[in-house]
Amino acid sequence: MKGITVLGATGSIGLNTLDVVARHGGRFRVVALTANTRWERLLEQCRRWRPELAVLREPGGAARLEEALRREGLPTRVATGEAGLVEAAAHPEAHYVMAAIVGGAGLQATLAAARAGKRVLLANKEALVMAGALFMDTVRDAGAELLPIDSEHNAIFQCMPEGFRAGERPAGVEQVLLTASGGPFRTLSPEAMARVTPDQACAHPNWDMGRKISVDSATMMNKGLEIIEARWLFGLSLEQVQVVVHPQSVVHSLVQYTDGSVLAQLGQPDMRTPIAHALAWPERMPSGVAPLDLFRVGRLEFEPPDPERFPCLRLAVEAARRGGNATIGLNAANEVAVAEFLAGRIPFPAIPAIIEEVMAQAPAGDPRTLDEILAADARARSEAAARAAIMAEQRNHA
Ligand code: NAD
Ligand code: MG
Repeated sequence: MKGITVLGATGSIGLNTLDVVARHGGRFRVVALTANTRWERLLEQCRRWRPELAVLREPGGAARLEEALRREGLPTRVATGEAGLVEAAAHPEAHYVMAAIVGGAGLQATLAAARAGKRVLLANKEALVMAGALFMDTVRDAGAELLPIDSEHNAIFQCMPEGFRAGERPAGVEQVLLTASGGPFRTLSPEAMARVTPDQACAHPNWDMGRKISVDSATMMNKGLEIIEARWLFGLSLEQVQVVVHPQSVVHSLVQYTDGSVLAQLGQPDMRTPIAHALAWPERMPSGVAPLDLFRVGRLEFEPPDPERFPCLRLAVEAARRGGNATIGLNAANEVAVAEFLAGRIPFPAIPAIIEEVMAQAPAGDPRTLDEILAADARARSEAAARAAIMAEQRNHA
């Protein structure tokens, strides 16, 4: 019986994880669940899973959760704040930790899971973008296992040579081909893109995901973050990661070897496949995903990305080349800008504009300690917020 902590249990990845776990009754035990503010949802999950620990980051909600649990006579202990998230991640009874908090807010808990030597199922790509070197060093030093959940990286992992472990340099690999759906605006004109709404940006053609990553898919920043993620996970140079737009989202990514072989992983666009893969690895187990019907898929198409229409892709490649403060700035500015767009305060094209300005201000340098990384992140966030406020003001006067 493997104990599991789910960080971000109420989100899209968290719910998919619990769906897979529910299919394997005797195999996993839910030890800890965490959420940000929605305590009623966490309470429902506590009724169902009876974890030892439930963490609500926001203290007011945590108090209400605690009260409700006691009233119902449930055994779950409650914690709150960053310390609570870290406690859940490092819980002594957890063998596996699903790192599925969205954004930089997940960094410290994800790092704590690695430091505690867990099997880390990594969905929280922003943590790697912000702190790749620190995170990979921590995984190695603590003897943690790192399994990618992001569908492309999970696909690449599955196509890697036998015995490959995250962070190593794979033998015989020429490059990886990272597939991208192109998002909901793949064929939209720049003029039309200037007017898209948050709901349109979140209506992804193939995947059902949280709102932040959905907007990232629409700007293609998601693919940019994934280029950086791939470099850390697979020990590759920037030139060894090629983005391929593939609108059907059936080929989840490919690995090209020096002998000309290209291995791909295919499947339905359903996150339960990578989740079940990482939970069962190196074995296999059912995920609840329907088998792939190639006759229904019919055709698979591939085209080059267009960095002119998707400036976020260009900015992410530039950040990847500069590294350090530039990637921290890229991620921080993107999180702030996406939140402002989702709140209806700035237009869609303001997202890359804000990121570009913040990156231009990013000092040279490569922060390596957690404190330095958090300081650089905070600086970039406040710059991005200031720029977003100016753009929101301009929009109100327009
Ligand atoms: P989501 O918005 O659906 O869920 C986010 C979860 O994080 C929720 O449980 C929420 O309570 C928690 N959370 C949010 N802010 C928090 C904070 N400040 N402190 C603590 N907890 C907080 O997001 P998602 O779509 O599940 O994505 C989660 C992560 O997985 C992201 O990093 C995303 O890029 C990655 N990912 C998601 C998918 C997908 O299909 N959804 C695919 C690949 C990668
Ligand atoms: Mg992905």
